[in-house]
Amino acid sequence: MSEYSSTMERPLKLYFIPYLAAGHLIPLCDIAQFFASRGHHVTIITTPSNALILHQSNNFRVQTFQFPSQEVGLPDGVENLTSTTNLDQSQKIHHATVLLRQSIQNFVEHHPPDCIIADFLYPWAHELANNLHIPRLVFNGFSLFTICAMESVKTHCIDLSGPFVIPNFPDRITMKTAPNKYAREFIDSLLTVALKSNGFIINSFAELDGEEYVNHYEKTIAHKAWHLGPASLIHKTAEEKAARGEKSVVGVQECLTWLDSKRENSVLYICFGSICYFSDEQLYEIASAIEALGNGFIWVVPEKKHKETGDDKEKWLPEGFEKRNEKKGMIIRGWAPQVVILGHRAVGAFLTHCGWNSTVEAVSAGVPMVTWPVHSDQFYNESLITEVRRIGVEVGADEWTLCGYWETQKLVTRDSIQKAVRRVMDGADEAFQIRRRAREFRKKAIQAVQEGGSSYNNLTALIHQLKRFRACKPLD
Ligand code: UDP
Repeated sequence: MSEYSSTMERPLKLYFIPYLAAGHLIPLCDIAQFFASRGHHVTIITTPSNALILHQSNNFRVQTFQFPSQEVGLPDGVENLTSTTNLDQSQKIHHATVLLRQSIQNFVEHHPPDCIIADFLYPWAHELANNLHIPRLVFNGFSLFTICAMESVKTHCIDLSGPFVIPNFPDRITMKTAPNKYAREFIDSLLTVALKSNGFIINSFAELDGEEYVNHYEKTIAHKAWHLGPASLIHKTAEEKAARGEKSVVGVQECLTWLDSKRENSVLYICFGSICYFSDEQLYEIASAIEALGNGFIWVVPEKKHKETGDDKEKWLPEGFEKRNEKKGMIIRGWAPQVVILGHRAVGAFLTHCGWNSTVEAVSAGVPMVTWPVHSDQFYNESLITEVRRIGVEVGADEWTLCGYWETQKLVTRDSIQKAVRRVMDGADEAFQIRRRAREFRKKAIQAVQEGGSSYNNLTALIHQLKRFRACKPLD
């Protein structure tokens, strides 16, 4: 065998460096497992507490580096955005990731891999990979649609003080609102460095973003994006799915048994991701809406929300709410096994903040969405869901906040919530068509990761390309 063909045969050595937030860590580790399932040597680089929430598997290694708790002033064990309780702490997490750079860099330089797959929040990975003459892929947990939208807005420098149309875009999309200047500049600078990489890894499948956006990205932005997802579909059993992320505060069986007792498509699932907090007034509106709707529901409320006041009375719940809705609904205070819940036939709609993972998990389960974006990429995701793919309806949120801790000033009223939920759950023609389209995308999602599917083939092509890079790498 020639040296070239033996290099092409050898498994790849890949380092994944996820950002310290559930919405980045969970999907990137799932994607790492796609590579591991093809026999490649995968190492996930993180900190001890984050290693604990990784899906336990023996097909990848975990390399940990001490989290600089003392240096940044965070309590022991608070090592990701999900476990922070306020804006100040979340900024300290980001500061910690900057401090972690040196240890990670030393390790990578002493044990160089064939490729680094790092979050775009680690722009320094660019220099590191260049110095080692190895390729670098970037992940940021956004859809390609959103990356295209952000790039268009960035390069065309349009006025964002009111509603605006995304310039030079395959579809005519009018955005009701825009992120503030600070958030935009932060993301724009990260995107600029990300686009110098060898490609974006996308937790989605090409059919969901659509050929028009894949082509637009490659032609207009002249960069490569690899759709390898939906990442959550790597997990087959309910136990595996429930093991993603934090430890669930309810038993999987308890959830499944409860859902088994409900009619098909009758339950509304409500969850706003891992870092999104609403005011007591806003939660009260949600409670009032679901009570008036009369549907079955599972409502996930972050643990810190119900603990933060310190008193026993939860001001965000109407008096006697739980007693009155004992049979109809379940409130989960803390981490829920989301992918398991979405996959149950009783779940008929998902009231979501449009975090990209939640979106693609709903699509993979064929569940229509009621969209309630709050920050970062979520407003663009809403447009893809409601206007382009038409697998959901908007609740009417139009306040783009800086991050999940930034409480919104405008309330989304109980009337708007009820109206939007009815549109997807009342069984009328609009609801029927939305569900039909959602089901079609579910089929496409499942096919995408199966042998011969689009994401499966993309992974094969990417692996081949990385092996060729290795074979052609200049000798040090
Ligand atoms: N998640 C979960 N249980 C929860 C809350 C969140 O399993 O109670 C998972 C969810 O399935 C998704 C991720 O956490 O994989 C959240 O990512 P997303 O992009 O939707 O939102 P973010 O938290 O980044 O805003």
